[in-house]
Amino acid sequence: MRVVVSGGCGFLGSHLCEALLARGDSVHCLDNCSSGRTANIARLLSVPGFRYQEWDVTEPFVLPGRADAVVHLASPASPFDYHRLPLETLAAGSRGTENLLRTAAHHSARFVLASTSEVYGDPLAHPQDEDYWGNVNPIGPRSVYDEAKRFAEALSMAYRRSRGVDTGIVRIFNTYGPRMRAHDGRVVSSFIRQALAGEPLTIFGDGSQTRSFCYVDDLVRGLLAMIDSSAPGPFNLGNPHERTVRELAELVLSTTGASSGMRFLPLPVDDPVRRRPVISRAREELGWHPAVPLEEGLRRTVSWFRSQGEDSATEAGR
Ligand code: NAD
Repeated sequence: MRVVVSGGCGFLGSHLCEALLARGDSVHCLDNCSSGRTANIARLLSVPGFRYQEWDVTEPFVLPGRADAVVHLASPASPFDYHRLPLETLAAGSRGTENLLRTAAHHSARFVLASTSEVYGDPLAHPQDEDYWGNVNPIGPRSVYDEAKRFAEALSMAYRRSRGVDTGIVRIFNTYGPRMRAHDGRVVSSFIRQALAGEPLTIFGDGSQTRSFCYVDDLVRGLLAMIDSSAPGPFNLGNPHERTVRELAELVLSTTGASSGMRFLPLPVDDPVRRRPVISRAREELGWHPAVPLEEGLRRTVSWFRSQGEDSATEAGR
């Protein structure tokens, strides 16, 4: 297969490009490096079948050559990035999604949208299955991300219904692993950075809010299954093992051996209190389930952060 991966220089995108190449597919990677880094794909540039094109997906796009699948991951994704790039986030979800849907339509290719658990907002239903419609504040500071993804889902379904495009939607829950950026504002990377720097881990609220953390290799297997499927989804992809943020902090402290403790700050606006995916649909229709326990995933992630040395703790990690 020849697969177009938008956002391929990012955290998830670079792991996906690698996995596609490893199974013999060729990859056309598009990225504007607004939050990704070419360092993430440096190793792939010499791999036969890999091509990188620096491109902003909000610009109309004509693909050189054919495509069998288009995977749309390009979007500012961490709170740090979407607060810094609010209009760009809305554009990536709207114009960017439409440009890639047009590409998929033109090539009769499979289209996979990387949506998010944020479409559920601060959920009133717990745990969240795909039939839950969400509780999103449309004008709050997080809305640029949440609503962009909700619009992207609507657009994908409209192209499926009116243009016959083979679309599939995955709603990704918190994923962590090597190549997260130290300063991206996500809880796992922030905790690891702080622990390795000997600083107290910052907890917003009292730490009783929950999240479920999926290791990147598990998530990438889910994306591959979605590329190979013709199911429309949406499918939740995430680890249903729910942990409190405080438990995560304790685990990071024990994994790193840090003794820097924790400090508590007020909860940000619209921060969801509970998050846990129901994944029975992905289990049944994609045969997917996560396999890497948090303890093991954290060990691998901490070891990667350590291998980055200074970069993981300083400006270079931004
Ligand atoms: P990331 O920031 O590491 O990667 C996103 C990539 O998209 C970056 O390389 C960035 O430079 C690129 N990009 C952004 N806007 C672009 C544009 N207009 N044109 C071209 N490239 C552009 O984030 P990630 O964690 O790898 O997330 C990838 C996708 O998965 C995103 O769509 C995100 O919403 C979704 N997602 C991720 C998570 C997670 O936990 N990592 C959870 C839910 C959803």
